[in-house]
Amino acid sequence: MLSASSYKLAKRCVRRWAYKEICRLKEPETSATAFGTRGHEQAERFLRDGIAPDLHTPEGRLVYESIPFLPRPGEAAVEVPFAFELDGAWFYGRIDAIHEAECTKLDHKFVSSLDYAESPASLVRDPAAVLYTLAAPFWETTRLRWIYNLKKRKAGQKPSNPVDATLPLTDAKKTAREGLIPAWRLLSGVRALFAGQDPTEALPLLDAIPCNPHDCMAFNRPCPHLAYCSRENPGLLEELTRE
Ligand code: SF4
Repeated sequence: MLSASSYKLAKRCVRRWAYKEICRLKEPETSATAFGTRGHEQAERFLRDGIAPDLHTPEGRLVYESIPFLPRPGEAAVEVPFAFELDGAWFYGRIDAIHEAECTKLDHKFVSSLDYAESPASLVRDPAAVLYTLAAPFWETTRLRWIYNLKKRKAGQKPSNPVDATLPLTDAKKTAREGLIPAWRLLSGVRALFAGQDPTEALPLLDAIPCNPHDCMAFNRPCPHLAYCSRENPGLLEELTRE
């Protein structure tokens, strides 16, 4: 089974994906991911139970600012898990909110800048957007709303910035067949190679898996595997899955 976040990690560096998925070496939680988790919890409580965001917290203030772009409490299903198969490949994940009456699926983001935010044109190719569209309940066309909540703002920027797109089911299937399904096949093959092996014994063998040294210091944060990864044998997921 492959999730959007696992696919994104493999796109950054296949070996980094393998350290997490095969050797069970988790990526460490950062202050940014902890902030996002707390923000998601407050948004979930508001959408499900109508509990007002806690304005004493920065994440609560951002959720409060995003309310004009959210369904009313009780209108949306929240934190909806999914798992489905397409062309023999299995995918799973969790959708932040589904507003079924509007055929809309929402994602909350808590970010420091809008530099990496999707645009309406790029959102329709985002792996999470594609999986959200294909997951039940699905419609002929899904409305997607990614809400970028800004932790740091430059002059003139708004705290909450929705990006909207519509994605037909047929387009989502096509995009999945171009990227996600070939990736699932490759990564499932790598998993099978190490099936039943003790994670500590597998660790030195992962140097055989192609890697991307450009990701070692991505976002100014050192990869947690720098101490034992050789950083040799470069190769990207796109190159490995190209037909
Ligand atoms: S140290 Fe660099 S090459 Fe090795 S797994 Fe991490 S990101 Fe990939």
